[in-house]
Amino acid sequence: MSARSSHVIVGASLAGAKAAETLRTEGYDGRLVLIGAEPDRPYERPPLSKDYLRGESERAKVFVHDAAFYAEHEIELRTDTTVSAIDPQGRAVVLGGERLGFDRLLLAVGAEPRRLAIPGAGLDGVHYLRDLADADALRARLERGGRAAVIGAGWIGAEVAASARQKGLEVTLIEQASVPLERVLGPELGRIYADIHREHGVRVLTGAGVERLEGAGSVEGVRLADGRLIECDLVLAGIGVLPRTELAAAAGLALDNGILVDAHLETSVPGIFAAGDVANAWHPLFERNVRVEHWANALNQGPTAARNMLGRGEPYERIPYFFSDQYEVGMEYSGLAEPGDRVVFRGDPAGREFVAFWLDAAGRVSAGMNVNVWGVTDAIQGLIRARTSVDAARLADPDVALEQLLPSQV
Ligand code: NAP
Repeated sequence: MSARSSHVIVGASLAGAKAAETLRTEGYDGRLVLIGAEPDRPYERPPLSKDYLRGESERAKVFVHDAAFYAEHEIELRTDTTVSAIDPQGRAVVLGGERLGFDRLLLAVGAEPRRLAIPGAGLDGVHYLRDLADADALRARLERGGRAAVIGAGWIGAEVAASARQKGLEVTLIEQASVPLERVLGPELGRIYADIHREHGVRVLTGAGVERLEGAGSVEGVRLADGRLIECDLVLAGIGVLPRTELAAAAGLALDNGILVDAHLETSVPGIFAAGDVANAWHPLFERNVRVEHWANALNQGPTAARNMLGRGEPYERIPYFFSDQYEVGMEYSGLAEPGDRVVFRGDPAGREFVAFWLDAAGRVSAGMNVNVWGVTDAIQGLIRARTSVDAARLADPDVALEQLLPSQV
């Protein structure tokens, strides 16, 4: 690519930063602009609900690169900058009064937290946790102690509930579903997580609708649909995120649950790519579109998009993966389970050291989750990738090495 070419990345996120880094390591020597709306340089989100939130790790540790990296690699990092439009025909993005031309464009704009739409949602003391500024505000609030009401027992809610307990706050976790983490983990595993939180002193309320937040100026309580009042000094709402598709929509890019991209992470407009939370990508293994809102997806799709911006034609085929740490319980999850998949346990869940597998109707492993068991991710992903039925009894037997269940070993 000639030195005159220009590649633009919108979204100074983990995906955006890793894409910029990869463009340089792969030899791209043209103009490279990385644009972000936030004041900070790209950072990683996992610590924001865990060690950083609890004040156990330094701010400097959350950043993807050190401050000098961008200038050293001739990456024009523009923070505090909002792109107002994309002109796909004119091959330019618009920032304020400026038009910035591109040969290739990557959209790594992420997702926006869903906001509570109930009376009282605007009271002081109502927090969300998406960006670093949110984490700083919540971290400062947790330092003051008191009673926290966490609305939504998804990943943010579960991790913040754990961190708040670890900081000594009284915590009530409020979830409309019948167990925490139900959408991803299903009822069996969700129940285990409910138990884990209760064992650590969290009051877990499930099947609980939230009607309004009460207080004079600052939040003082959460009124549930059944009339109960959960008194609190702060609220954290972790009720999901919505992919940021406005720019892409206005530019006429194809959308469906995010920005639609092919296996090469290219949108419906050639030369414009998308990666990370916002990208709904065709997955060659699962033979359907998949949008993943986890750290590893941003980490890995950014580099693949960058290589494809350079014409490498590399499909993104990684198996979705994420991890979570709550109290002394660490887990990793690989795959994509569907409602109705059968759960098979290897090890005793009560001992909090086990692997759970999900099997689809054909007996194939659709997902696997290791809890306080380590070094098994490659084997779990090998089983998922094999797409052949496995013997459930052998899968459940800890004396049978997982590698023995891989097709080449059978
Ligand atoms: P999430 O994991 O999608 O969970 C949202 C939770 O809020 C669900 O339990 C949902 O219930 C509930 N909910 C939705 N609307 C609600 C409402 N109006 N009132 C009460 N509850 C409501 O989303 P999140 O926890 O906000 O996290 C945001 C994103 O960051 C997610 O994509 C998540 O995967 C990611 N994240 C990942 C990690 C990790 O990988 N360790 C950690 C933190 C965050 P229903 O399912 O019934 O709708």
